[in-house]
Amino acid sequence: MPAISLSPQVLAKYEPVIGLEVHVQLLTATKAFCGCPNQFGSEPNTNVCPVCLGLPGSLPVLNAKAVEFAALASMALNCEVRERSIFARKNYFYPDLPKGYQISQFDKPLAEHGWIEAPTADGSIKRIGITRLHMEEDAGKSIHDGLADSAHHTSIDLNRCGTPLAEIVSEPDMRTPDEAFEYLTRLKEILLYCAVSDCNMEEGSLRCDANVSVRLKGAPQFGTKAEVKNLNSFRFVRMALEYEIERQIEEIESGGQVKQETRLWNSGEGRTYSMRSKEQAHDYRYFPEPDLPPLIVSAEFLAETRKKLPELPEARRARMIAEYELNTQDAFTLTATREFADRFEAAAKTARSPRRVANVLLSEVGGRLKALGLEQEHSPVSMAGIVQAADLLDEGKISSKQLKQLFDVCFEKGEDFSAVYEREKPEQLSDASALEAMIDQVIAANPKPVEQYRGGKKTMAGFFVGQVMRASKGQANPALLNELVTKKLAG
Ligand SMILES: [Zn+2]
Repeated sequence: MPAISLSPQVLAKYEPVIGLEVHVQLLTATKAFCGCPNQFGSEPNTNVCPVCLGLPGSLPVLNAKAVEFAALASMALNCEVRERSIFARKNYFYPDLPKGYQISQFDKPLAEHGWIEAPTADGSIKRIGITRLHMEEDAGKSIHDGLADSAHHTSIDLNRCGTPLAEIVSEPDMRTPDEAFEYLTRLKEILLYCAVSDCNMEEGSLRCDANVSVRLKGAPQFGTKAEVKNLNSFRFVRMALEYEIERQIEEIESGGQVKQETRLWNSGEGRTYSMRSKEQAHDYRYFPEPDLPPLIVSAEFLAETRKKLPELPEARRARMIAEYELNTQDAFTLTATREFADRFEAAAKTARSPRRVANVLLSEVGGRLKALGLEQEHSPVSMAGIVQAADLLDEGKISSKQLKQLFDVCFEKGEDFSAVYEREKPEQLSDASALEAMIDQVIAANPKPVEQYRGGKKTMAGFFVGQVMRASKGQANPALLNELVTKKLAG
């Protein structure tokens, strides 16, 4: 990190104010206003047509699926969807924008007034406002390096021109880089649950710009903000904000003024650089797009779209905490992705005890994966295997010790539970007379505990169960053993 070192006392005088703008590419099959494939990774300049190239005489036609996805995201983010929104031209020149303008929405966006709830450092929940969600199209891509002639030329790939985007603008409600990180994490999770975007930051399908300013604590006005771009991971967002907050405070403390500008994050150096003075909305000369009528979203369309809204992550965690008696951390693990939560719940439903399936998954499988540094999808034990193990445990057909040993073998050999169980089926002693003989021996050898038990100390039963279990080398059928011990001790 560069050498900015302000004392904690100086830092404490200021309050950062952070707002985020997130662009997400919508997962439609075709582009926003033409029939070209919306596909990452194709040969450069192959997914193009007169419409997305902006050739004279071509006319845009709005993709209904893009509207559905944008509306779905708006609802999931608690926004009000406007019945009538207007597409506008945002005019600027850039080599990767052959039309010379971008179709966007300006004063009448698709949706407004939403919010996300994000947990904060002290464990409370903070509601962060969403100003608006509007639809727009993406520009192409300038390629400055990685090609044979990159030293002399910049190449242009126009495949991305016209890709449908939702731009989600937050209120300036965040006060720490951690809150910004949390907001982005929750936002991405919601969008993934809704399946409207793959949110792949490496491929650019989720991009984030941060607006940040500082002010003296208690000051009524916001300070002058800088916009930070080129943030291609949430971790970089947090680092860039930490850097930028200190840079601005230092500027003010040394008698200077923060300039309104756009700055680029350089992750290699861990600092931001001034790129250009920040353009204002009026610089773009927005005007209503003459080739597209107003977008009318009917109540019927909204009702249909609302039906497609999945149970959202926060609600799902709350329900699962109650249903499976989980703690918050475990609920986050089980809902990490919608697909994983769906698989878990579908499997748990078929088990004798869904709660036990959660337990086995989290402690036996989760613990081993964590120790090996593996992700859930690399687990040798399938959901069906976990259900089988949980049921065997529940029926008393294996002890928890045997279950652990079987899982050890699964992970050693990379085999699923059913295969290992079939092969190594632990011997289980379910012969009542043999167990009774062992119980008799233990009772005869321990007159004192027997007396205590019969004197009313019923918890002593556990002592006898433990002794017999040890004598049977862990093979006694636990359910039968419990039953017989109680019977024998009753005399
Ligand atoms: Zn096209």
